[in-house]
Amino acid sequence: DIEVECPPDKNIVGQSGWALLHTMAAHYPDKPSEECKKIHQKFIQSFSRVYPCKSCASHFRYMMKNQPPELENREKLSIWMCNMHNEVNKMLMKPVFSCDMQSLDERWRKAEPPCNSFID
Ligand code: FAD
Repeated sequence: DIEVECPPDKNIVGQSGWALLHTMAAHYPDKPSEECKKIHQKFIQSFSRVYPCKSCASHFRYMMKNQPPELENREKLSIWMCNMHNEVNKMLMKPVFSCDMQSLDERWRKAEPPCNSFID
């Protein structure tokens, strides 16, 4: 079992939030259907409205206005997400992560999705 401080603070919500977003991108299809793109677009927009740190959510929406989500394929979405995270890392003076697919897959992709019910 994973022990998570309860209730979670901003850092735990942040780590969990990024884990969800990067894992989702890591298992996004190489050739997504239009429906799949639409669902992910809506999810990312909604995420940026419901994320329970208001200043973080607002900053995420601001970044997305300048760099809208790239939903064409798995590689584009994974790299876009990595760039978003790096913008936050820079703001918080944390190290930036290499946004090449090998580094991203090593960190975030298992051979099979954590649950095999992804829509494509
Ligand atoms: P995290 O930044 O949470 O990273 C977790 C792990 O992800 C790292 O250990 C590393 O293995 C991996 N990683 C790091 N960078 C990347 C990358 N670029 N691509 C792929 N993997 C990577 N906090 C604020 O204080 N202000 C904000 O405005 C803010 N905005 C946020 C916006 C969003 C959408 C999210 C999800 C979180 C935001 N946070 C914000 C939280 C912040 O980003 C961190 O999650 C938090 O500070 C904890 O940092 P951490 O050092 O534990 O690692």
